Amino acid sequence: MKAQTMDQLKGHNRLADALADVGARYRAANPESLARWERAGAVMPGGNTRTVLHYDPFPVTVVKGEGTYLHDMDGHRYRDFLGEYSAGLYGHSNAIIEAALKEAIEGGMALGAPNRWEAPLAELVCARFPSIDMVRFTNSGTEANLMALGAARAFTKRDIVMVFEGAYHGGVLTFAHGASPVNVPFRTVIAAFNDSEGALALIEENRDRLAAVLIEPMMGAGGCLPADRAFLQGLREATTRQGILLIFDEVMTSRSAAGGLQQRLGVTPDMTTLGKYLGGGASFGAFGGRRDIMALFDPTSPHALPHAGTFNNNAMSMAAGYAGLSQVFTPEAADQLYLSGEAFRERLNALAASKGAALSFTGCGSIIGLHTHARGAAERAEDEASLQDRKRLLHLEMMLRGFAFAQRGYLSLNLAMSEDDLDRFAHALDEVLDQHADLLTG
Ligand code: PLP
Repeated sequence: MKAQTMDQLKGHNRLADALADVGARYRAANPESLARWERAGAVMPGGNTRTVLHYDPFPVTVVKGEGTYLHDMDGHRYRDFLGEYSAGLYGHSNAIIEAALKEAIEGGMALGAPNRWEAPLAELVCARFPSIDMVRFTNSGTEANLMALGAARAFTKRDIVMVFEGAYHGGVLTFAHGASPVNVPFRTVIAAFNDSEGALALIEENRDRLAAVLIEPMMGAGGCLPADRAFLQGLREATTRQGILLIFDEVMTSRSAAGGLQQRLGVTPDMTTLGKYLGGGASFGAFGGRRDIMALFDPTSPHALPHAGTFNNNAMSMAAGYAGLSQVFTPEAADQLYLSGEAFRERLNALAASKGAALSFTGCGSIIGLHTHARGAAERAEDEASLQDRKRLLHLEMMLRGFAFAQRGYLSLNLAMSEDDLDRFAHALDEVLDQHADLLTG
């Protein structure tokens, strides 16, 4: 282990003290959430059924969402800057979404038949996304990616899939530190994100066996890191040349414009996967693409590929998704939200710079990643653990001030937010940076 300087050691101790202090205040403020979490731990590993919802020391239990607010069990109100990891685009009380859901529920659920919303929703999706001639719905983004990869393998009659280091395409398609042990056993090659030369060489090397290149045009869970347009364009050209299908995972980025980030960047893949907000806040996923590929799933043809899923066209997701896309998230609303997110991210970066904070914000439009960096010369050798600890400190201080976002450093804006909400977030961050100037700046 590297010898630590006295300054580094002092820095670690101060950070540990600050974390213990904010942790104690957080615990004291959230006794009901703590008790619920401890009780859940007896029957759910770590008191959790969705890994990303756990954070240190324990997550607050949300009992209600209203507009852009979340309310927890201990009576606190938070401005919701998590936005359900981008699925909460419409906020919590959109009247149009609520009416659509009510209508679907009153019409009876689990109908076991095509319903009147799925085709209109499909028409809107196909009209908006440049790469989607035809689409099918799933229950989640994970399923959408699994189906798209399955389709690509069947279409090309090849078996390998190329993905990128740090990518997240679902719980069984995770490439944060190599492939996750619970990943589905597709054969994969993993390329470095935004490294054109490396990726193109790997494509060349595996050209006869590669069925698909699957990529997020902005890596979401991997830190909200946008792909360079030239990098995507290079992938587009190489895959076309080699008969490999290029699949954009726009589960997170589809909100960047009416036609997703592909429309904004002007790069059109062969297939696209969608999810999150497109079900109006109900469970959702979709995969779509070129007509000749999607036609493989036509059940009226003799050798059709199967695509099953009891809830693929569930009435709530279809009705709320259609209402949201047709009446609320119009192309104009999509552009406005994108611009508002771009301006907010710039504002946060300007604030961090003005304070000399070892902090930066990345992302695309309304999706924002928060990163902590090594501080001045004395602490250059800081390890990953202390960078995470500083995120923890910042997150808990912001939670205690009434702002919810992901501890790992992820924010997404929603349509129910006002400029005032953004102002208040920036002011609270300013305050936290002053309070912990010795740990977060310099
Ligand atoms: N792909 C991306 C880019 C995602 O961000 C996510 C979820 O966060 C998924 C796929 C998986 O979607 P789901 O959680 O609906 O399975």
